[in-house]
Amino acid sequence: SSQIDCAPSSATRKPPVAGVRETERGASMSPQPHFLVLTFPLQGHIAPALRLARRLLVAAPDALVTFSTTEAAHRRMFPAEADAPDSGGGDDCRLELLPFSDGTETGYVRSSTDPAAFTDYMASFQAAGARSVGELVDALAVRGRPVTRVVYTMLLPWAADVAREKGLPSALYWIQPAAVLAVYYHYFHGHAAVVADHRHDPSFLVRFPGLPTQAVRDLPSFLTESTDPSDFFHSVYTTVRDLFDTLDRETPRATVLVNTCQELEEGALAAVGAYDALPIGPVLPSGDEAGLFKQDDAKYMEWLDAKPADSVVYVAFGSLARMEREQLDELLLGLEETGRPYLCVVRKDIKAELADGEASETEMDAPLKNGMVVEWCDQVRVLSHAAVGCFVTHCGWNSVMESVACGVPMVCVPKMSDQRMNAWLVECEWRVGARAEVSGDGVLRAAEVRRRVEEVMREGEAAGGARRAASEWKAAVVEALGKGGSSDRNLRVFLEGITSGVSL
Ligand code: UDP
Repeated sequence: SSQIDCAPSSATRKPPVAGVRETERGASMSPQPHFLVLTFPLQGHIAPALRLARRLLVAAPDALVTFSTTEAAHRRMFPAEADAPDSGGGDDCRLELLPFSDGTETGYVRSSTDPAAFTDYMASFQAAGARSVGELVDALAVRGRPVTRVVYTMLLPWAADVAREKGLPSALYWIQPAAVLAVYYHYFHGHAAVVADHRHDPSFLVRFPGLPTQAVRDLPSFLTESTDPSDFFHSVYTTVRDLFDTLDRETPRATVLVNTCQELEEGALAAVGAYDALPIGPVLPSGDEAGLFKQDDAKYMEWLDAKPADSVVYVAFGSLARMEREQLDELLLGLEETGRPYLCVVRKDIKAELADGEASETEMDAPLKNGMVVEWCDQVRVLSHAAVGCFVTHCGWNSVMESVACGVPMVCVPKMSDQRMNAWLVECEWRVGARAEVSGDGVLRAAEVRRRVEEVMREGEAAGGARRAASEWKAAVVEALGKGGSSDRNLRVFLEGITSGVSL
């Protein structure tokens, strides 16, 4: 709403001043709660961070929030003042959007396949980021808007160090499942060797304290592939290692907000007892939200409106996954063969890559009998549409949480990071989907697409199948997020910790 929405570019338009409410506070009162929410500049990190920022504002009506990501991402999210929604926000804006520097003009540009380029970026992000965030904290204090707590997502362990140096409490905001938090925790606390010894054996079973047995192939890829210094993502591995070191330095215990809910991950949450882990999710968008991608026009919603309930297969692989021509062809062929209507996201950058690699014009615009292809959609709106009966997903945690919150069963096509564990949760823990297997050459074949989509859609039609489980989990999530629900209560515990000045 306009009350809590600052015009996104207000940060660059004029210096922020103390909120009206602050001036109403007596000098003896504790400072107005002010959360600085920091995030890595990826869509899958920005979205849950921005959603949390908005939830904090709603849950704590006297709090201020500053949302901050890198300058390049900030410019992409809010391209020009003219594009900024007119919120009518005045000096009492409670949400401010202020970027920090990662030491680069453009951010990380993916065109390079040189692993050193990514490692260099991560080093710059860390060094310049820590400096710049420190300056931001100081500048906000000078302006009479002092930060009272730093909240940071997973690839910014240095944010906790900056907070500590400034005498501020911090909280990690974990944007993956509690199960993955627990695996990382135990890996870095005594279980690294067993994983290292068997990392080339995908079916080897590992038992971490408090967790069900896991196959090595389902563990986060940063632990099985990226421990090798020559791996492209080795710097992600070292950053995650730094994160768990940082959490160990927190006294008495680190606070970790987790984008999950108690009901979904009871056991895994208990397995991270070393932290004050507070499940406060799944965080969901409240209306339109800014992001790194421009949405297609909403024709796809009209297209969905014309389809029967639970008939459409929605297909999307998030903001990062790439796709070869052969894979795209197999995918579309498999979808066509189901004979069901489908809405498939093929991002603009993937189309461009495919077109670059081919002499002929890309076939993307070839007539698709049953399908519609878009470059980017409002995924939560799509998943909320009654016509959508199944989601073929790469199992990024945001996508999984959005699908669970909307009660849509899934076909899982995980690749990297936490996606394989997320798929395991979907298939084995909550029974709201099926995992598709790629063939030996790493390609998901058309026949497998058709088979898994049919399995999930048929189970949807059958009593007691994936769709019924999905609607039961949806109800549990609605309850958790509602007033007095587990996530709502946990967010309040977090807020009370700050308003009373007590570090949780
Ligand atoms: N998303 C979207 N429109 C699309 C495709 C994806 O809004 O057409 C959003 C999706 O709702 C989710 C995010 O992009 O919030 C992707 O995050 P996720 O963790 O699923 O995957 P990642 O992009 O990090 O691999």
